[in-house]
Amino acid sequence: MNDSVDRLTKLFLKFPGIGERQARRFAYFILTQQESYVDNLARALVAARAHAYICPRCLRIFEGLSETSAGICGICSDDRRDQDSVLVLEKSQDIESFSRTEYNGIFFVLGGLIPIVQKDIIQGTNAQKLIDRVNKESVDGTLQEIILAFPITPNGEHTDSALRELLAPVQHGITITSLGRGLSTGAELEYADPASLDASLKKRE
Ligand SMILES: [Zn+2]
Repeated sequence: MNDSVDRLTKLFLKFPGIGERQARRFAYFILTQQESYVDNLARALVAARAHAYICPRCLRIFEGLSETSAGICGICSDDRRDQDSVLVLEKSQDIESFSRTEYNGIFFVLGGLIPIVQKDIIQGTNAQKLIDRVNKESVDGTLQEIILAFPITPNGEHTDSALRELLAPVQHGITITSLGRGLSTGAELEYADPASLDASLKKRE
């Protein structure tokens, strides 16, 4: 029995923010559930993963039945959205917060923050892909504004200034703004309410 508890604990330990004790609690929880529940859980996990795709344009994870012919997600392919404004965020789930705001442009997922201690600011995130995209879209004139939307934390603020530095050579007249004050310090954007996000979008600078 302990073998399965250990094996499950190891798997749950990979979940974000989950420590050893919580992981063990989850493992014992699974062992005490109805078989039908565990079966549903296992199937739901496999199905969710099988239908998860990464959009090659905005790099967000999205759910699809299969890869579309263009391969891009529903937001990127939605021609009712303004293609001239791109909002850059830390992770895919931050987009959900902005989908409840008045923002009607498109997105780019950086896939992490750039840590203050890191010397090479281009490594570890999708920063190079952002530079390439901005470079291309500044030449064909589609992009007018880049909005940087990172949490008000030391690494979030560092990411903001590092990206401004990285984008400067390819900016070619594109405006770069950052969310205005009004969001709580240290708060994750995925938990921010739409009204605060709208206020900070209006006050962007
Ligand atoms: Zn996309």
